[in-house]
Amino acid sequence: MNLSLQTVPRPFADAAQLIDRAAPGALTHSTLQVGTMASGQPVALPLLVAKGRADGPVLWLNGAVHGDEINGILAISDFMAGLDCADLAGTVVATPVSNPTALDARRKRVPQDEQDLDQSFPGSDAGMLSQLLAHAVFDGIRHCADVVVNFHTMNPLFSSRPYAVYKDAGDGAPGEDDILSAIARFSPFVACRMSVASAAELPGNNAGALDYQCLKLGKLAFMIELGAGSRQQPDCIRAGIDGLTGLAAHLRMFPDPVPGPGPVCRVTRRTHVFSRHGGFFRQQAAAGTTLPAGQPLGHVQDVAGRVVETVSFEQDVQVIGIRNDPVVHSGDRVGFVGLEWDEWHDR
Ligand SMILES: [Zn+2]
Repeated sequence: MNLSLQTVPRPFADAAQLIDRAAPGALTHSTLQVGTMASGQPVALPLLVAKGRADGPVLWLNGAVHGDEINGILAISDFMAGLDCADLAGTVVATPVSNPTALDARRKRVPQDEQDLDQSFPGSDAGMLSQLLAHAVFDGIRHCADVVVNFHTMNPLFSSRPYAVYKDAGDGAPGEDDILSAIARFSPFVACRMSVASAAELPGNNAGALDYQCLKLGKLAFMIELGAGSRQQPDCIRAGIDGLTGLAAHLRMFPDPVPGPGPVCRVTRRTHVFSRHGGFFRQQAAAGTTLPAGQPLGHVQDVAGRVVETVSFEQDVQVIGIRNDPVVHSGDRVGFVGLEWDEWHDR
């Protein structure tokens, strides 16, 4: 009898195998299994493959990395369903629900371990469930993808117009002009250039973001933020579909040529805005607008209607997001603004 230590064989097909098996000229809906629950139910996520008959790039679309961010799922679904695979050059791969247990639980984070999946990349094949999920997606991207779009939304308490975020990943990563030329197809309100080390960002492992880890591998990647979480917003979904259509054309995956994109408002410094006082935040500005210096973003008032705090800025700001839920405690976020920006033009 052989008593040597048994290793656990890899029991499920990985993403690269599923993509390889997909038939050319068709849309294939398969399932990427990651593990099992105690009940025996699979932990799995949907994998859509639209494979063209002609050679071309692999565009990878990732949705619901935060389980309560819905607009991106629907934009990906509608875009994939509308593709003419017979005329496609290259392959579009989609993981529209990359955080399946969080989606099913109507939550942002992975419920089983309370981790933020978009702070868990590249993941691990021998870790917590969030790491297993991250690894399953990232392993496929590592082997197959050329360009990656990761869809987010703001949280359900905020309003925003669609905007983009891209990271500064240093040497070896695709250049900023190439990233912005792809982002421009989405006509975002702003495109924020973000440093994962910036103290102006919320605390957490920002270097564990999918797009950042893709850039580190030399793959062109960015985030599109489509409105607010926990709802469907038809204008945001439409913006996502139109952006993906323009991006695929830009990547020469469609037969018809496309015109160059319009300019992009590039934000190079941004900040979250917090209330100092508890009370009720009353909006005085709108998302997707430029707020002049000295004008209020909003007031915090107490239950007697007395203004206890006015939120304003000494300079003009771009209002990327503004809080809808009026109930605020000290330290709650009430806004998200761009502080420095310029206009980028495709060359
Ligand atoms: Zn998100």
